[in-house]
Amino acid sequence: MPELPEVETVLRGLKPRVSGRRIAAVEVLNPFVITGQPDAFVTGLCGCSIASLRRKGKALAIELECNSAESRCYLLVRLGMTGQVTVTSQDVPLQPHTHVRILLEGGKEEVRYRDVRRFGRLRCCTPEEIEAVWTQLGPDAPEISESQFLKAMHGRQGAVKGWLLNQQILSGLGNVYADEALFEARIHPLAQPGRLPIDAARRLHRAVKKVLKRAVAMQGTSFRDYIDIEGRPGNFSSKLRVYQRTGEPCRRCGRSIQRVVISGRSSHFCPRCQPRPRHVSSSPARRARKSEKAANLSGRRQVFKQR
Ligand SMILES: [Zn+2]
Repeated sequence: MPELPEVETVLRGLKPRVSGRRIAAVEVLNPFVITGQPDAFVTGLCGCSIASLRRKGKALAIELECNSAESRCYLLVRLGMTGQVTVTSQDVPLQPHTHVRILLEGGKEEVRYRDVRRFGRLRCCTPEEIEAVWTQLGPDAPEISESQFLKAMHGRQGAVKGWLLNQQILSGLGNVYADEALFEARIHPLAQPGRLPIDAARRLHRAVKKVLKRAVAMQGTSFRDYIDIEGRPGNFSSKLRVYQRTGEPCRRCGRSIQRVVISGRSSHFCPRCQPRPRHVSSSPARRARKSEKAANLSGRRQVFKQR
């Protein structure tokens, strides 16, 4: 799934190719990927000029100047799991699963949206709507300050891996970079954010920024279908240290990388570099029993209080 570095790579690729250009026509081949009415989407975009591009977390917004009413609107792009945005000549044959074509005036080029699994969405938004989308997202991961990060961790239970994936807390991280950041910070994915020692929490804050910065510099990671706007894969895959390396030796200590499922998602970690904290049970069955016991206890306490 494209995460912050991949979306940032798309933005950086698009910027010089589309900025200032007018949208001559829009063709929706599959309305499934459009949020709202496809007709309104087409009329909303046609004739507008591309003014600027913005990103927050994994969301990309293309700001459009609509010359008729001197108003502005935004094309919000969410790549979902397999969304691809490319800029190509109009003569290039369409690939299967291409759902939207945005024809640019002059130069015979177009922006294409392709998405095999169709979890991505395109939406034409008013400035108010885009602000509402932005406020639902937590601070952009590379921008969050240490004090904001530590404050957001305070008192949080559950696995730190799940906490990193919560876009309302911190926007931009997905499964790949959350695993990589935890390895970098030497933190077990099941550790509880609220129980991490302060130095570990600070390490994690630095690790998130470091891993994202490195991945952006290498144009992201290609899993499944991610490509940049020219159709090239990202270069970070070879730099991954834990993600999808189950059973392979840790690049730091040689121990086999392990996998654990946390809220339905695979998490990869090194059991030596990322030791299990004492508050985390070793076996999934024991963890489940412990949380069940805790739930029963709190239930009993409530009954007792009611009496
Ligand atoms: Zn290791």
